[in-house]
Amino acid sequence: MKAPTLLWHNGRIKSWHEASVHVGAHALHYGSSVFEGERVYATPSGPQYFRLAEHTERLFNSARIYDLVIPYTPDEINAACHEVIRATGLKSAYVRPIAYRSGFTFSLAPTADVAVDVAIIAIEWGSMHGAAALENGVDVCVSSWTRAAPNTYPTGAKAGGNYLSSQLIAQEAVRGGFVEGIALAPGGLLSEGAGENLFVVHKNRIYTPPAGASILCGITRDSVFTLARELGYEVQEQALPREMLYFADEVFMTGTAAEITPVRSVDRKPVGKGEPGPVTKALQKAFFGLFDGSTVDRWGWLTPVTEA
Ligand code: PMP
Repeated sequence: MKAPTLLWHNGRIKSWHEASVHVGAHALHYGSSVFEGERVYATPSGPQYFRLAEHTERLFNSARIYDLVIPYTPDEINAACHEVIRATGLKSAYVRPIAYRSGFTFSLAPTADVAVDVAIIAIEWGSMHGAAALENGVDVCVSSWTRAAPNTYPTGAKAGGNYLSSQLIAQEAVRGGFVEGIALAPGGLLSEGAGENLFVVHKNRIYTPPAGASILCGITRDSVFTLARELGYEVQEQALPREMLYFADEVFMTGTAAEITPVRSVDRKPVGKGEPGPVTKALQKAFFGLFDGSTVDRWGWLTPVTEA
């Protein structure tokens, strides 16, 4: 992945090399950062953020869980997200705001005087698993790693430390020749992918594991609930057994980076006909239609990147 030349850091646009973190930073030692992944899409009326307000809200919620005080208001973070797009001139982008304890302390209960810094990095990034993955689907495995139990550290916070779990899941999958790993929740029922939520289609019904299944409640997942309803489906949030992946008609994964990625096989067993099915394709069409105008944004999900 190529680093950009510019980013937003602590209130202003800086060159990539100017924005650094000290080796003593608390976040480096203990994973005390919270972050977001959001997208700007190139639309007929220019670059637009997708559900920026919801991403910023989740960023602040993640921060609250860890008593991490972001030294900006949500409006200031939103404005900075717009600023970084203007500065980089990107027409479409994956945008990564991150707030992290940059100050030094070895304390596990850092006091308010330990600094919190904020950076926002925007890059050009196609779909996480590539254009062919969106078209043909991906091969995934069920991970030997379990997601964190709800009473360990909360998966509902998008915190840096959580992504050690995701790295184990993704690295094991890639080592095994798969594109992604699906993890089970403590208790053995389905949870989510390393960086995506999981959906299963069976007998024309759409299912997804509930918030209690050690997932991050994705904003793309939530968007799919709405788009599915438009198509005449009510997505059912319920505990799902692993074996459902093996007799499902369709499986797909959602995320800001992964968008709506069909799954064509699980543990080398083909899902349905081994190609993206009609429900997944209809949802993809509705989702990507938001960005070429063929799906009308009746929910106010898109915000044009503002002029300076
Ligand atoms: N679960 C995990 C672990 C993730 O990292 C992501 C990506 N942020 C998601 C689910 C999907 O969330 P969203 O749709 O908000 O990007």
